[in-house]
Amino acid sequence: MPPFEFCLASGNAHKVAELQGLAAASGLAVRIRSAREFGGMPPVDEDTGTFVGNARKKALALRATLPPAVWALADDSGVCVDALGGAPGVESAYYAGPQHDAAANLAKLVAVMRGVPEAKRGARFVCVLLALGPRGEERIFEGECHGRLLGTPRGGGGFGYDPIFLPEGFSASYAEISDAEKNQISHRARAWGRLADWVRGGLKDVSAPARR
Ligand code: IMP
Repeated sequence: MPPFEFCLASGNAHKVAELQGLAAASGLAVRIRSAREFGGMPPVDEDTGTFVGNARKKALALRATLPPAVWALADDSGVCVDALGGAPGVESAYYAGPQHDAAANLAKLVAVMRGVPEAKRGARFVCVLLALGPRGEERIFEGECHGRLLGTPRGGGGFGYDPIFLPEGFSASYAEISDAEKNQISHRARAWGRLADWVRGGLKDVSAPARR
């Protein structure tokens, strides 16, 4: 049987790589393709204020460019910091401004958290994966990873806020652990695990956005 195909509704090469790694490790006959293969990710204003709303917007924009056999898969994710009432959250990608500068976003979060005591540095990464089929049918999967924020970035791996996030039970940051280790515990891995169960179960119980 040919592999079931998703195209990732993202221009973020790190997300594509992580999801391709997760798909390969899951042993499923699933292929994650990049939006680049279909003319690139159409521009989308991520302005709904929720992970699900933004994921749906991205999936719908990409879906229009895909052949029927390929499902759109959107990943909307971010880091929610307890001491900041959940910020930057859905605004993680443009925390330091509309230029989506990852280094500036990281530097801003380090600066904002300066002086916040150890006990108040709790944070969690959230990932929403939204799968959208050719007839508008959709399924949503969520994953979280709890931890705390370091005062100083550590490690050269990963992307985004990885160098300041210490996952619960680890003494190394997301940027210090290997890709394989991150793919065991990350918010994206947990959302992917739920999606993989759905694929294994035969892609049942999808609902159309209009009926939600
Ligand atoms: P999105 O592309 O609008 O979903 O933005 C996601 C943003 O959240 C990224 O640009 C990063 O700033 C942050 N983010 C999401 N997942 C991760 C991760 O696994 N590591 C580090 N930062 C992440």
